[in-house]
Amino acid sequence: MAKISDHDINAIREKADIVDVIGHYIQVHRKGNSYVAICPFHDDHDPSMSISPEKRIYKCFVCGNGGNVYTFVQNYENITFPEAVGRVA
Ligand SMILES: [Zn+2]
Repeated sequence: MAKISDHDINAIREKADIVDVIGHYIQVHRKGNSYVAICPFHDDHDPSMSISPEKRIYKCFVCGNGGNVYTFVQNYENITFPEAVGRVA
């Protein structure tokens, strides 16, 4: 795999809509200015994960899993960071 520069990583992250990307894997629901979802990283029954399209981050208030669009794909698919970047791109 070709090496991805920091510049590209940032450009892709800015272009990627975190709600779109997470919505590709799990169901997300709009709640005011942000989105909520059932957390896939713990045994969740109420939507504990909130997604901020503005800050481009997600955070689960129960298990503490959180980060940016790459962190989600990495954790969800259990893949490495460069693989996650490729997936998001
Ligand atoms: Zn969680």
